[in-house]
Amino acid sequence: MAEDQDKCPECGAPLTDIVTTQSGRQLKRCSTNVWNKDTRQSEGCGYVLWLEVEPKVLDEECPKCGAPLVFAVTKFGKKMKKCSKGGWDKETRKATGCDFVEWQNGEREELNEKCPDCGAMLVLVTTNGGKRLKKCSTAGWDAKEKMVTGCQYIEWQK
Ligand SMILES: [Zn+2]
Ligand SMILES: [Zn+2]
Ligand SMILES: [Zn+2]
Repeated sequence: MAEDQDKCPECGAPLTDIVTTQSGRQLKRCSTNVWNKDTRQSEGCGYVLWLEVEPKVLDEECPKCGAPLVFAVTKFGKKMKKCSKGGWDKETRKATGCDFVEWQNGEREELNEKCPDCGAMLVLVTTNGGKRLKKCSTAGWDAKEKMVTGCQYIEWQK
């Protein structure tokens, strides 16, 4: 077992409770680290311990091998589904097992605006690349037919 996950390795002070960032990552920081509002700088020890976010097992099967999929968040806050059989061999620095990965789309926010084409409500979507667009809430994707469904109104945001 790892012994000292609760003490700062740099100064020995206790670490804080687990903090979850906006992107879904988790960390503990040194409790001597405080944000000084006047100088707008953090003071004290700057040690941060990033925690591995436990992958959540999903009720979905890998299309490649049929193993359960897990939901994971990368270091950069990107969300993905990947195969639970997939892994990383640190010694050979190669991916092992099943390599199925499905990146998840960004945020989706319901808007109080109507689609000029069909009158349904619009949604604001942020893509993985950080681009924002408004699109019709009836728009969808038929994975079986590989076709766009519903209304195709899109308005890119600046
Ligand atoms: Zn410290
Ligand atoms: Zn798989
Ligand atoms: Zn529409």
